[in-house]
Amino acid sequence: MNSISISLASTLVQKHFSLKGELSPLVGYEDINYKLHADGASFVVKFSKESLRENIETQTLVMQTLADSDSSNIYPNLIRSKQGNILENVEVEGNSYLLRVIPWLEGTIYAESERSDSLHTSLGQTLANMDKVLFESGIWYRGKTDSTWDIQFADLSKEQLCHIKNDEDRRVVAYFLQQFSLLKPELQAVRKSMIHADVNDYNMLVQGQKISGIIDFGDAVYAPLIDELAVSLAYALMGQEDLLQVSLLVIDAYHCTFALEEKEVDLLYYLIAARLCVCICQAAYSRYRNPENAYLRISEGPALALIHRWIKLSPILFKQRVKKQLGFKVETENTENLEASRLDHVNPSLSISYSTPIVMEKAAFQYMYSQDGTTYLDCVNNICHVGHNHPHVVEAAMAQLATLNTNTRYYYKSLNEYASRLVSKFPDPLKVVYFVNSGSEAGDLAQRITRTVSGRKETVVVDHAYHGNTLAGIEASPYKYEGKGGMKKADHIFKLPSPDSYSDEEVKNGTFVEQMKEIIRSAGGISAFYCESIIGCGGQIVLPKGYLAGLYEATRQAGGLCIADEVQVGFGRIGEKFWGFELQEVIPDIVVIGKPIGNGHPMAAVVTTKEIADKFNTGMEYFSSFGGNPVSCEIGKAVLDVLEKENLQEHARQTGNYFKTELNLLKEKYPVIQDVRGFGLFLGVELVKDGIPATSYTKDLLEFMKQNGILLSSDGPFNNVIKIKPPMTFNKSNVDSVVSMMDNFLNK
Ligand code: PMP
Repeated sequence: MNSISISLASTLVQKHFSLKGELSPLVGYEDINYKLHADGASFVVKFSKESLRENIETQTLVMQTLADSDSSNIYPNLIRSKQGNILENVEVEGNSYLLRVIPWLEGTIYAESERSDSLHTSLGQTLANMDKVLFESGIWYRGKTDSTWDIQFADLSKEQLCHIKNDEDRRVVAYFLQQFSLLKPELQAVRKSMIHADVNDYNMLVQGQKISGIIDFGDAVYAPLIDELAVSLAYALMGQEDLLQVSLLVIDAYHCTFALEEKEVDLLYYLIAARLCVCICQAAYSRYRNPENAYLRISEGPALALIHRWIKLSPILFKQRVKKQLGFKVETENTENLEASRLDHVNPSLSISYSTPIVMEKAAFQYMYSQDGTTYLDCVNNICHVGHNHPHVVEAAMAQLATLNTNTRYYYKSLNEYASRLVSKFPDPLKVVYFVNSGSEAGDLAQRITRTVSGRKETVVVDHAYHGNTLAGIEASPYKYEGKGGMKKADHIFKLPSPDSYSDEEVKNGTFVEQMKEIIRSAGGISAFYCESIIGCGGQIVLPKGYLAGLYEATRQAGGLCIADEVQVGFGRIGEKFWGFELQEVIPDIVVIGKPIGNGHPMAAVVTTKEIADKFNTGMEYFSSFGGNPVSCEIGKAVLDVLEKENLQEHARQTGNYFKTELNLLKEKYPVIQDVRGFGLFLGVELVKDGIPATSYTKDLLEFMKQNGILLSSDGPFNNVIKIKPPMTFNKSNVDSVVSMMDNFLNK
C-alpha cells in the first residue's frame, strides 16, 4: 500500500473532521493508521483503500450498531465529519481512500494485562453482550469470502501447512484442520450472525479486571455465532495454566448473558483449535512472504504452545465439562452395559486390557481419549505407526475410498506405485511383494512359500515366539501352542531355545548354530528358519550380534529358507535401521511385514526374491480378495510419505535413545529393574524381584500407569517385561511423563 505522509494526513483530518493535532504512525494489517492527539483526546485515524468500501461500510455499521446500544463506552463511537459523515472520500496522488476517525479507547491491552477469574468472566459477558446486540440487529453481510483469518475458511490455511517447518507443529495443525473439515455439516446447522470475529488479545482493552474496550472491527463477518467465542478463547487461553477452568469461566459467563445452544457447544473445542491453526499457518506463511514483519507473527509462539497442550486436553472431557457447567445433559455409555452386550455375541477369548476396561472414543497421534474424558498417552500401539488418525493417512484413505476400491485382477496405478515404493525400502534381491490382510496371513503365506520351494515342511522357530493366529501361525508359535489351551507341538515344528540380549558368548562359540544343526540332523532337513528380528512377545529380546548370520548360514546350507518376521519391529521403529534384520547385517529370503504398514488399516505383505517367487509360481493362482486393493495401497503409500516427510525413523532413534537413557537412570535407582533394552521406540524394561520375575508387580505397575493416563503392556514368558512401542510421533516430553510416573510407582 502507498504511504500517506504525516503532514498530508494531518491536513486531511483537519479539513474533514476539524481536528487539529499531532499525528504519529501506528502499525496496521491493511489500512494506513495514525494516532492523533487533538483537543485533549486521542483518536485513531484510518485511511482504507476504496476497494475495501463494502467491508469498511460493514465495519462502520457494526460499530455504530454496537455504540448505539452501549452505555459503558466499550465500543468506539465513530466521529462524524463536518459534513456529518462517518466515512470521507479522499484522494491522495490519484488513489482514493476512505478516511475515518475513531476515538482512542483507554485501557491496557488484554495480552499485557494480568488475568483473573473476574477478567475471564468479564470477557465472557462482554462477548455475549456484543453478540446479542449484533444477533438481534439482524445485520447481514457476507464478509470477505477470501479472508483466511475467518475460521469458516480455515480450510484455506491447509495451503500454508508446507510453510510450517517443524514436523510436530505441522502434523498437529494438519490434524486439527482436518478435524475442522469433518465438522462442516454440523457447522451448517448452527445459528449465524454478524460477529466481530477477531476479539483477540490485542483487540481487547482492560481496566480494573474488566474488559473496557473492544477494538478493530476489520474482520467483522456473518458467520456461525459460536465462532466469536472460539476465536476469543483461542487467544484468552494462551499462556493460561488451567485451560479447562479458564474456558469454563468464559463460556459460562457468556451463556448466562446470551444462551448458547448445545450443538454450538459441541463444536467449540475444534473451532478453538481451528483458529489456532489459522494463526500458526498465517504466521508461517508470513515468515516466508514478509520475513521482516514480525508483527504478523506476534501470536505464533503462544499459539503453538497452546495447540500442543490442546491436543492433550481431551475433546470429550472439554465437551462434557462445558455441557455440565451450562446445564446440558451429558450422556455416556455405561461400561457394564457395553461389557454385557459385547459378551452377548463376542467370545471372552478376545481379552480385554486392565481390571477396569477403557471405553475408547477417539485418538490423535500418541493420545487416546476415552469416553470418561481421560486422555491416555499411548505407549503400546505400534500399529498406528505414524500416529493415530494421522491426517495424511486419513485423507488418502477417504479420497481413495471415494474413488475406486477393487482387486488385483485389474490394472490400477496404486498397486504398481506402492509395490515399487515398498520394495525400494528393501535391499537386493528382495524385490517381489505379495499383499495380504494381516501379519498372520503374511506369515502363513511365507510358510507356504518355503514349503513349496524347499519341498519340505520342517520349520524352526525360537522359543516363546509368536507369528500369528492362523493354523500355520499357531503351529509356529510356542507362545501359543505351549500356552493355555495350546495343542501339542506339531511334528514339523522345531524349537530353538531363545537367546537373551546378552548371549554373545553362545553366538561366538557357536552354541546356537550347533543346536540348529542338531535339529536339522534329527529332522532330516529344513524348510524354514522363522525368526523375528527383535523378539517381541518373547520379551523384547534384542538378538545378540551375529545371531542370525550363523543360523541363516546353517539353514541355507541345509536347503532351507530364512524368514524374518518384521511385523512388530519394521518400518523405522528401531531408529538405527528401517528393518530389524539390518541390525543383524543379514538379508533374509522372505520378510513378513504387517501391523505398522497401514497405520491400523488391515494390511500386510510378504516380500521375497524374484527367484523364490518364480519357484512359488507353480501354476496355482495366487489371489487375495483384499490384498493390494487400491485403498490399502494408497494408505500404504501415505504411511511411507509420512515416515519420509516427517523423518520419523530419525525421530524414533533420538527419542528412543533419550528414553533408554532416562530408563537406565531409573534402573540405577531401583534394583527391581533388571534390564533396559531395545532400539529406537521398541524398548523393553524387565522387572525382577529377588531373582524371580516380578510378574504381579509388573501388572500392578501397568494398572498404576493406566490410572495415571499411560497405556503400556507387558510380555515375555513371565509377563515381567514392560513393552514400549508407541506411535512414532511420541516425543521427549512424553518420555518424561512416562519415566516420572514410573518413578512414582517404583518409589512407593
Ligand atoms: N508376527 C508377530 C511378531 C506379531 O507380533 C503378530 C501380531 N501380534 C503377528 C505376526 C500376527 O499379525 P496379525 O495380528 O496382524 O495377524
